[in-house]
Amino acid sequence: MNEQTTNAQETLAANIAKVRVTITEAAQRAERNVDEITLVAVSKTKPVEMVKIAYNLGVTDFGENRVQDALPKIAEFHPAGLHWHMIGHVQSNKVSKIVGQFDSIQSVDSLHLAQLLNRHAEELSIRLPVLLQVNVSGEESKEGMALVDAPEMARQIVALPHLEVQGLMTIAPLVKDAEEVRPVFRELRTLRDRLRDELPQCAWQQLSMGMTDDYLVAIEEGATIVRIGRAIFGERVYKGDRQ
Ligand SMILES: *Cc1c(COP(=O)(O)O)cnc(C)c1O
Repeated sequence: MNEQTTNAQETLAANIAKVRVTITEAAQRAERNVDEITLVAVSKTKPVEMVKIAYNLGVTDFGENRVQDALPKIAEFHPAGLHWHMIGHVQSNKVSKIVGQFDSIQSVDSLHLAQLLNRHAEELSIRLPVLLQVNVSGEESKEGMALVDAPEMARQIVALPHLEVQGLMTIAPLVKDAEEVRPVFRELRTLRDRLRDELPQCAWQQLSMGMTDDYLVAIEEGATIVRIGRAIFGERVYKGDRQ
């Protein structure tokens, strides 16, 4: 093993340990069971070698937001027990490429996308786990279905037989103090509770919310999935266009 790999391993081990401690402490503060919180390590822009190292350090779930970047990584590394999550916007023409590759699609933001995913899942005879992405804050730049549309859209999507709707996902606005986004997380949980009452045919067990800057608050507000990139893999370096 060369020196660079050893360094990457040590850095990742330290980062992952720190994140796990923070998750555990936040769960304890909220009097929640830490076992109900899944850490999704967001590996976007990072090489598959880092995914392999993190996996060997016990991380089982990884998130990617761009189909074309993710597919080669998934093709190279998808051992049993590793789950790849799609967390970015999915264009209609990419649906056929991702069904059967990702283990879960967290970014279902329209009925049309849900119908396409359902059709391709049917062709593969699978039931695809999905989350509905909701734009709670209403920021124009954010993807996700509008909060007011969510109940009706959810009602139509849960009727699709080849999708397994497991819950909701949101991206909070970028703020200076994570406390400011607490109402966003609370609102997603309130919506989840309402959908669980209205559509009991799904368990609605997952609330995917919280990233590097705000996962502590998200866990206090009930997150069952946190999506963490920078705190694990370090800052992202973008070549050209922003993601
Ligand atoms: C990039 C990304 C994350 C991770 O963000 P960090 O701030 O690096 O933790 C989480 N969720 C989504 C949807 C993302 O695109």
